[in-house]
Amino acid sequence: MVIAEIADTVGRAFGSVTGPLSDTVVRLGVTGLSRAGKTVFITSLVANLMDRGRMPGLRAATEGRILSAFLQPQPDDTVPRFDYETHLAALTGPAPHWPEGTRAVSELRLSFKVRDTGMVGSLRGPRTVHLDIVDYPGEWLLDLGLMGQDYAGWSADVLARIADRAEAAGFRAQLERADPAARFEETAARDLAAAFTAYLHAARAAGFSDCTPGRFLLPGEMAGSPALTFAPLPAGAGSSGRGTLGREMARRFEAYKAKVALPFFRDHFARIDRQVVLMDALGAIHSGPPAVEDMRRAMAGILTAFRPGRVGWLAGLLGVKRVERILFAATKADHLHHSQHARLTAIMAALVREAKDRADFAGADTAAMSIAALRATVEESVSHGGTTLDCVRGRLLSSGKDAALYAGELPATPSALLHPAREGARGWLDADYQVMDFAPAVLKLRPGEGPPHVRLDRAAEFLFGDRL
Ligand code: GDP
Repeated sequence: MVIAEIADTVGRAFGSVTGPLSDTVVRLGVTGLSRAGKTVFITSLVANLMDRGRMPGLRAATEGRILSAFLQPQPDDTVPRFDYETHLAALTGPAPHWPEGTRAVSELRLSFKVRDTGMVGSLRGPRTVHLDIVDYPGEWLLDLGLMGQDYAGWSADVLARIADRAEAAGFRAQLERADPAARFEETAARDLAAAFTAYLHAARAAGFSDCTPGRFLLPGEMAGSPALTFAPLPAGAGSSGRGTLGREMARRFEAYKAKVALPFFRDHFARIDRQVVLMDALGAIHSGPPAVEDMRRAMAGILTAFRPGRVGWLAGLLGVKRVERILFAATKADHLHHSQHARLTAIMAALVREAKDRADFAGADTAAMSIAALRATVEESVSHGGTTLDCVRGRLLSSGKDAALYAGELPATPSALLHPAREGARGWLDADYQVMDFAPAVLKLRPGEGPPHVRLDRAAEFLFGDRL
């Protein structure tokens, strides 16, 4: 019943897209975990689509088919607008700095006037293509895995996963003291939820991606509400008697699914045509094998989300609309000299392949790339101990000083990283990978040019080039 209702709502929502019926509307979802680079990606993408001097890989641009690109009011009145102007000013102003990252859903409509070439094009005149960019936290997407679970199943999964994680020591201690069969007290629930949330934050900081419920990390306006005040409890807790801690926790878990997670999937996720998933792959590699393995698992989870017609409760939503293309992009590739980009891409491609196998995925077209939405470095070769190292140079975010970074040599075969990760290795055997945070460089943009990037044009071509 619920599914039918949702499908109905989604169906009606499609009918309400503004503009003449002949206009093409492409909804592009941009997601990734916090700090993956969503805000910088959207800002630089839009700037580079408006000034296309650095977009040779976007065919419609090089073939001169895009007559103009301009921002328009978005079709959804109740979704916050992506604050493009503020973010662009942060990146391209006289004292450039990184903008504030994504914390909730936002949206932006970029419209194109496109002239088709050939006979048909000259007869028909220009057409309009709307690109609706929907920015949303990847943390929320991971909740999809949770939607198909009940409280007992979810608790068992989480508790098994965190049993030997140092980050969860505090929560485990709290759990020891909790009695699921005791009479429900709000303070007990709050203490458990706080300890669990602290674990999730620590796990994220340690490079883990499997941190659900997603809103515990990015609550938005829901912070402190009962639907966000629960935690996993040992087996049998949810079936303890009425009025007990265990029973109330199970009830709140269900409320979270129905009132927090589901509306997001219904209102935003279910309407997406094309999706880019940004991943800080270099950051995960730097953090070590558990973070890489975790990233692969997260990718498989995401692909499951996009698998049409398979996830029971979701089928009713996605049956209405199918995501046609998904791009997994390793961001911040400007931390690596270009001589290593192919290796980073190969690692991403191998991760996608494994995740696809794992998720038994046969749906959208997928691709893997390594990109930098905003290039903050220049390349440089440095002599070191008789060898020449291909480095990148930039201004360090921490000290403001100039520094050269050699990230370490990525292996020629992705399995050299992915195999130990899958086998549960704690550290890399004979390699060390570095990352540093660079500040955005001061830009001198010529007219018609957007901010410098790495392969943003190719990403755009894959994602929506066919619609322009
Ligand atoms: P979000 O949380 O996914 O919206 O992530 P942001 O877009 O705010 O990016 C998080 C951080 O990653 C930024 O503050 C930058 O430090 C870094 N970053 C993002 N994109 C790039 C990039 O293209 N190059 C470099 N060097 N750093 C980037």
